[in-house]
Amino acid sequence: MLPARTDLAANVLRKIEKAENGIVRHELIEETVIFHIRGDELLRKRARGVVIHFTDEELVRVAGNIVTHNHLEIGSLSAHDACLLQHKPYEVRVVDEQYRYSMRLDDPSKPLSQQQSATMQKEAHRLERELQDELAERALRQGERGKTSPDIMHEVWLRLASKYGLIYHRERR
Ligand SMILES: [Zn+2]
Repeated sequence: MLPARTDLAANVLRKIEKAENGIVRHELIEETVIFHIRGDELLRKRARGVVIHFTDEELVRVAGNIVTHNHLEIGSLSAHDACLLQHKPYEVRVVDEQYRYSMRLDDPSKPLSQQQSATMQKEAHRLERELQDELAERALRQGERGKTSPDIMHEVWLRLASKYGLIYHRERR
């Protein structure tokens, strides 16, 4: 059986999803919100663009907590997002116009080392490029160029999750 998507309490999940519904409306700004597992909002941070960097003090607040942010385009966690797992969050989440994505460690007592995290990032990038190439070739063969591309990062995490001991889910909003 698949592990549960989340074991957060229903009222905590409601709070997080409410915040996600707010930040997903941004068109140009990526916003990150960190929640305590009991549901208190701990930190909010905005960036114009697509990658949010945390200071060392902010990274301390990631540990044991839930980090969520919006993606401006449809798409799952980036390799950079997944690397947050080395700072021991309870769960890393992303929300976009269509989906909510979540990632956490199957065994929180064994966080990813910096080395494992770097290896995972490299492999995710490589797989992402491969899938993009496959897609481009197929589009060329089938003349599907105008079609919207599927979410490549979602496919990347489906393929890499078990190798790195990750529990990964995507659900429609
Ligand atoms: Zn992201």
